[in-house]
Amino acid sequence: MLYIGSHVSYKKDSELVGSVNEALSYKSNAFMFYTGAPQNTRRDKIDDNLTLKAYEIMKENNIMLENVIIHAPYIINIANSVDLEKWEFGENFLRTEIERAEKLGVKYIVLHPGSSVGAPVEAALNRVIKALNSVLLESDNVIICIETMAGKGNEVGKNIDELKYIIDNIDLKDKIGICLDTCHLNDSGVDISKFDDYLDEFDKKIGIDKIHVVHVNDSKNPLGSHKDRHENIGYGTIGYDNLINVIYNKRLDNIPKILETPYIEGYPPYKFEIESIRNKKFNSNLTNDVINFYNK
Ligand code: FE
Ligand code: FE
Ligand code: ZN
Repeated sequence: MLYIGSHVSYKKDSELVGSVNEALSYKSNAFMFYTGAPQNTRRDKIDDNLTLKAYEIMKENNIMLENVIIHAPYIINIANSVDLEKWEFGENFLRTEIERAEKLGVKYIVLHPGSSVGAPVEAALNRVIKALNSVLLESDNVIICIETMAGKGNEVGKNIDELKYIIDNIDLKDKIGICLDTCHLNDSGVDISKFDDYLDEFDKKIGIDKIHVVHVNDSKNPLGSHKDRHENIGYGTIGYDNLINVIYNKRLDNIPKILETPYIEGYPPYKFEIESIRNKKFNSNLTNDVINFYNK
């Protein structure tokens, strides 16, 4: 079964209800959101009435909670082995983020492993492991999914071996997973036209069963560029057919696919990208479709 959706907003007044409704407006059956602004760590209390209302809407529209994902804010850096105050701040924030996910009933949190800030990679990975081992609790349902990174700057988690090192050292193995991001993979040097080769290596070293989320994005930059700039589906260097092969890959069946492609002239492209993915037909008229739909 195809579970496809996009990044959506989560607003103070509508919370999960607003997120679900936005997802439905794109004809999604999966979605991802930040529990507050991604660039800061100010978070508001969660209103259980709104959560229950959102569950009702989800039930009516066959959206399952397993296909709802939280993305942790990118400013936290649990790979920081240099400034331990910042590391501790990230660790504490991550713990509260898990508690918010538990309150919302969301099972998956996607997390960027962070930046080594110039320290040796192994020291950075060891800090990631230490933070995760302290925040993951047996009593929680949440699974933290480490995202595959492009290797921009000092980002860690840029190849299978670094991800394997983290996972191998986590005590609660069933509370840790992976989120693949096609743009990040391309920019890190993985050729998406040979995606099955990547999955083979991933399966041998980590295990495909650890993949719980896939971010589907085209890339503005060439293979191995270490840049991380997303492009609309079929408009980048990965290309439509290669992305469709990822989305419909049998080995990733039932795993939610989330678009994080850029807005077009201030409007979300997701309704049309999702339609094009469901039809398996490239939309060569995306900009016009988006502008005509939202500009009326
Ligand atoms: Fe991300
Ligand atoms: Fe991503
Ligand atoms: Zn990215």
